[in-house]
Amino acid sequence: CGIVGYVGPRPSQDILIAGLARLEYRGYDSAGIAVIDGDGNLGIRKKAGKLAVLRDSLEDAPLGQGTTGIGHTRWATHGGPTDLNAHPHLADDGKLAVIHNGIIENFAPLRDELIAEGVEFLSETDTEVAAALLGREYRSNGGDLQAAFRSVVNRLEGAFTLLAMHQDTPGLVVGARRNSPLVIGLGEGENFLGSDVAAFVEHTRKALAIGQDQIVAITPDAVTVTDFAGTPVEAEPFDVSWDA
Ligand code: GLU
Repeated sequence: CGIVGYVGPRPSQDILIAGLARLEYRGYDSAGIAVIDGDGNLGIRKKAGKLAVLRDSLEDAPLGQGTTGIGHTRWATHGGPTDLNAHPHLADDGKLAVIHNGIIENFAPLRDELIAEGVEFLSETDTEVAAALLGREYRSNGGDLQAAFRSVVNRLEGAFTLLAMHQDTPGLVVGARRNSPLVIGLGEGENFLGSDVAAFVEHTRKALAIGQDQIVAITPDAVTVTDFAGTPVEAEPFDVSWDA
C-alpha cells in the first residue's frame, strides 16, 4: 500500500519509519522495513497492526545504523494481516529483501513452478513469489541484481510497485512499476523512492516521475531509469510544490 526506499549516508531506519508515517493516510494493516548496513548485513522487522507496533519493536531492538533500506505498509490482498505475511519478503537465504504494492495476477503458476524446484514459502502472499523468483534469477545469473530484477518484472502480470535490495550490494535499491505508482526523490548524496512524494517530501522537493512499465535503480549518487527491456529512458523532473 505504501512504499519508501532510501540510499545515502544517513541511518535509514528512522527515515523509513517517518516516510511510512507520512503514507499512513492511505490505510494499511501491517508494516515492515529492511535495512542493510555497511558490513553487508540485511535485517528486517515486520509487524501486523499499526506503525506504532513496529516503531515500539524497533525502539526495543533497533535494526542498526544501516544506510540502505526499504519500508512498506501493507493492505492485505493475498493472505491475512499477520506478521509473516507482512513485507519485506526474503529470498536468497535472507540476503535479498522485496516489498510490493498491488496484486501479481499470475502468482499461482509461478509459485507452482518454484515449489517444483524445491522453494519453501513462509507466507501466503503473491509478493513472496516475486521475491523467490528474484532470488532464483539472482543466483543463476551470478549475482547481477539489476538483470535479475529486469527478468522478473517481465514475467509478472497485474499491478505492482516492486522494490528490492541485496545485502551484497549495499547502496543500491531497485524498483519497478506497472499499473501502480512509484516516484524518485533526488537528494544531495542520497536518493529516495516512494509510492508517492509524501514518502520523502520532508527531505527533498526535487522529484522524478517514473513512467508505466519502467525500472529504476538508485544509489547515493546516481539514478538510472530504463524500460522493462533495459533501454535507458529520460525521467520527467517535477517540483513537489504542495505543503507537507
Ligand atoms: N498483494 C500484496 C499482499 O497482499 C501487497 C498488498 C499491498 O498493496 O499492500 O501482501
